[in-house]
Amino acid sequence: MAQGKIIKVAGPLIVASGMQDARMYDVVRVSSKRLVGEIIELRGDKASIQVYEETSGLMPGEPVESTGAPLSVELAPGLIESIYDGIQRPLTKIVELAGERITRGIEVSSLDREKKWAFVKRAIPGDKVKTGDILGIVNESAVVEHRIMVPAGVSGTVKSIDDGAYTIEDAFCVITDETGKDIPVKMLQRWPVRRGRPYKQKLSPNYPMVTGQRVIDTFFPIASGGVAAVPGPFGSGKTVVQHQLAKWADADIIVYVGCGERGNEMTDVLREFPELHDPRTGESLMKRTVLIANTSDMPVAAREASIYTGITIAEYFRDMGYRVAIMADSTSRWAEALREMSGRLEEMPGEEGYPAYLASRIAEFYERAGLVDCLCSGERSGSISAIGAVSPPGGDISEPVSQATLRIVKVFWGLSASLAYKRHFPAIDWLQSYSLYVDKLSRWFADHVAPDWTEMRARAMRVLQEENELNEIVQLVGMDALSWKDRLTMEVARSIREDYLHQNAFDDIDTYTSLEKQYRMLQLILAYMDQGNAALYAGADLSRVLEMPVREKIGRAKFIPESEMKQFDQIESELNSEAAALIEEGGL
Ligand code: ADP
Repeated sequence: MAQGKIIKVAGPLIVASGMQDARMYDVVRVSSKRLVGEIIELRGDKASIQVYEETSGLMPGEPVESTGAPLSVELAPGLIESIYDGIQRPLTKIVELAGERITRGIEVSSLDREKKWAFVKRAIPGDKVKTGDILGIVNESAVVEHRIMVPAGVSGTVKSIDDGAYTIEDAFCVITDETGKDIPVKMLQRWPVRRGRPYKQKLSPNYPMVTGQRVIDTFFPIASGGVAAVPGPFGSGKTVVQHQLAKWADADIIVYVGCGERGNEMTDVLREFPELHDPRTGESLMKRTVLIANTSDMPVAAREASIYTGITIAEYFRDMGYRVAIMADSTSRWAEALREMSGRLEEMPGEEGYPAYLASRIAEFYERAGLVDCLCSGERSGSISAIGAVSPPGGDISEPVSQATLRIVKVFWGLSASLAYKRHFPAIDWLQSYSLYVDKLSRWFADHVAPDWTEMRARAMRVLQEENELNEIVQLVGMDALSWKDRLTMEVARSIREDYLHQNAFDDIDTYTSLEKQYRMLQLILAYMDQGNAALYAGADLSRVLEMPVREKIGRAKFIPESEMKQFDQIESELNSEAAALIEEGGL
């Protein structure tokens, strides 16, 4: 094991000599305080080390010892409901042991070593197994079945396996490999965070991750296994979008990586999350969640590591066959950590001081998302959907982090300061945003919601675009210059914006809308447009069309509970009869 000495301390970066036997990305222990660090550059016998803990007081000459292992996460039952820092130290346990501020060099294992889990086998002696095959299960929380898989690099015949209560370090199974060697298998696995976990092959995502957020599901859907970015200036609603997704997205497991924007923001997350309830199961949302929190007072290096820690945990659950969603809020804070470390390494700075490898690092993160065929003997698929918030300074997305992100993600939910200012939430700008999954998912929507889903979406989108063009005319020559048909289009666009796209995250009913209800709501608005146009053509007065009493009900349709969908039939027939009366009155 390499043993060196500190020769330089520069904030979170230290340089040590005598490290010729160490390897890139090895974890090291620094000084007698045994602070955790990772080698990020090796030149001759000199190693540059990013230290994940406060380095004040460190002096040249102090010892540095390589552990010979790369930065890894521990994977086993106990992950769910955990709250970790960027290098998977359990924050709650540390606070119990050492109080609010993390004591330096503290050694706490990421997962409980004492707790016994009730293991139920799914394999029997004599079974031929290989990496990724499920040996048994542990009911980890009220909603998560933790599937215990054959660890990487192991294959052979199950020699013995027994139900029972085991700690994560007890061997519950013995596998005899091809050479006849017996390998004891325990639940605890380790995986280096900077290397993606293997899978058989990547599949093209073909079904959506349903979020219950109308502007997302209808207009800019994300596939299960898709990648999305939410850029927006401060206060435009990035965090609320991420929380809504964590709460409502139809994922089995949520990994939430928070890089504190404001000093106390992560504290909010830590306090709020455990109190949120999963609307489907009624259980605390934490029962399917792993939280990784970086408060702004934690060293920047830990922030840099946190998204790798998060995505590795996400991959582990994906490998079990789950649909995982990972949210990173915000990746700009992460990129700043990268910039700071790069500056300290005295690397050649690229645009705005970010290192030249910024774009490739961002791509590496998002590329670990996707829908995959999992590694196992049979067939199993799992997915990771990744959603990153980006907070460009001043909201200007021409800066490097936004640009590098937009090049790689397939969905762009652009938050607009002016919409947020008008309190139109979610402030996702419908003219700027896009989803490249729309075509791929249209088959799924047609089969599972309504055959004309995509067509309806396109019609509504056209109305919004027309509104934008008409607005320019109105600004030049006034509303009176518009034809009746255009005036109606403007009204319908307003209805789409206010009655449909606007969705209050804090209203019990409005906070989530099923796809069926989304379809019925939008269908009503477009039916009003068709009926209104028919009445106008029949000679009805525009004001009478705009004042149809049923419009108020269309406006309130968002508050119809999911259990009372019949009300939509009622509104539809009122619309038809009111329009029929106008057509008759028109008399053309
Ligand atoms: P950011 O993370 O971009 O700085 P936040 O997510 O904290 O912004 O949102 C700022 C405020 O906007 C919230 O506190 C909330 O009052 C309001 N808001 C955002 N989204 C919604 C929504 N969907 N429904 C209601 N209010 C919202």
